[in-house]
Amino acid sequence: MTDNYLNLVNSGPAGNLAKRLGLPRPAVLRRHSPGAPLVPGPLLVLGSSAAADTLATLLLEWNQDVRRHARPGERLGAIVVVLESVTDPGQLAAPILELGQALRQLARGGRIVTVSRPAVGCTNPAEAAARQGIDGIVRSIGRELRAGATANGILLGSDAPVQAASGALRFLLSGKSAFVDGQFITVSATEPAEAQNEDRPLTGQTAVVTGAARGIGAEIAAVLSRDGATVVVVDVPAAGEQLAKVANRVGGTALQLDITADDATTRILDHVQHRHGSLDLLVHNAGITRDKLLANMDAARWESVLAVNLASQLRVNEALLASDVFAGSGRIVCLASTSGIAGNRGQSNYAASKAGVIGMVRSTGLALEGSGRTINAVAPGFIETEMTAKMPFATREVARRLSSLQQGGLPGDVAETIAFLASPAAAGINGEVLRVCGQSLVGA
Ligand code: NAD
Repeated sequence: MTDNYLNLVNSGPAGNLAKRLGLPRPAVLRRHSPGAPLVPGPLLVLGSSAAADTLATLLLEWNQDVRRHARPGERLGAIVVVLESVTDPGQLAAPILELGQALRQLARGGRIVTVSRPAVGCTNPAEAAARQGIDGIVRSIGRELRAGATANGILLGSDAPVQAASGALRFLLSGKSAFVDGQFITVSATEPAEAQNEDRPLTGQTAVVTGAARGIGAEIAAVLSRDGATVVVVDVPAAGEQLAKVANRVGGTALQLDITADDATTRILDHVQHRHGSLDLLVHNAGITRDKLLANMDAARWESVLAVNLASQLRVNEALLASDVFAGSGRIVCLASTSGIAGNRGQSNYAASKAGVIGMVRSTGLALEGSGRTINAVAPGFIETEMTAKMPFATREVARRLSSLQQGGLPGDVAETIAFLASPAAAGINGEVLRVCGQSLVGA
């Protein structure tokens, strides 16, 4: 669905009027386009540790124009702040105030990325305070930035070296993370693997995407195919015609089935084995809403939402993880929702299912640690699809503007995040929930 207001304020006079009236002025976001530079200008790396030098060297190896101090008047494409060795909140002042001085030089669609360590599990109170302080800083900067710029953080978990941040760093700097804002990604010591083909990192892989006949699922199929995967698209028989069109468009195969059926997993695995050999990636995207206030909720609404959005994922995962058809380095990515984080009026059933997905991902992530396989969730906020087009006009407008980026995301924004989590670059990311919500106030 088109955001007419966004188009209007980005077309000359209306933009000036919106500015004078103090109305939201959502920017056209810097999204991925083939051949575009990683960031729109030189990259400033702040921080005085050896890890900051290591990251600066890495960025030079990526052919980036790297600065260690801002040059007056120069537009910066991104600022990376390396804070992995802070042990006391007093150590935050110098690098963060330097960041503050450089913020005015950030280009449209620029990026701020911090690299630090998690506070959870840290036994030194002052060190934990400093680490958690970075959380507050990043989330506040995200709310202050304008012109489509974003602020996110990478947490180096379990004593991971700074190099482990490289896969997440490239994603967060790029146009692929346009709608990821105010978020943290924890990476483990597992170093991101090099893709054989950087432009098509999923070459040779087979992916299954459920609910792929339209909306976010169809876009996930398109982006995975662009990145080199052979895609099996799955949806209910009633959507068969649309599904066949998606399969043709992405050069994949279609499988008509209801994901809640008892034999759904067997049929998926049989299809993959006969047509493609083995399965490298499963994206649990199929989902439904049946909204009602809890006081008016009936069993059919409750049970159908839980069956499609959660029970099917639990059942399929159990069978998949026990099957030889699922590759030793296989990935699972599940669609959660910010409603599952913050709750939403009229969505107790949907929020139960999506919060349940988050619980399932964290638990399965623990079981998969060190196995080479990973499971992660993506929690979209307001995304422009047929699902959100059904919302009443006023609710939809409010939902769009209630984020730092003051607009809804596009299905492609969710798809790019899923393609990243499926890629070799995300080998060290497991059991994580990554929001794609433009830093929505919902679930903040
Ligand atoms: P959509 O309604 O446009 O598409 C969902 C697809 O899932 C449809 O093609 C539908 O036929 C299919 N599906 C439904 N039940 C199925 C079943 N039993 N078996 C197989 N396929 C089935 O939805 P969307 O907006 O593209 O959302 C995709 C996913 O993203 C969902 O899980 C949704 O909960 C989640 N999500 C969406 C938003 C948003 O703003 N659109 C926000 C947060 C989360």
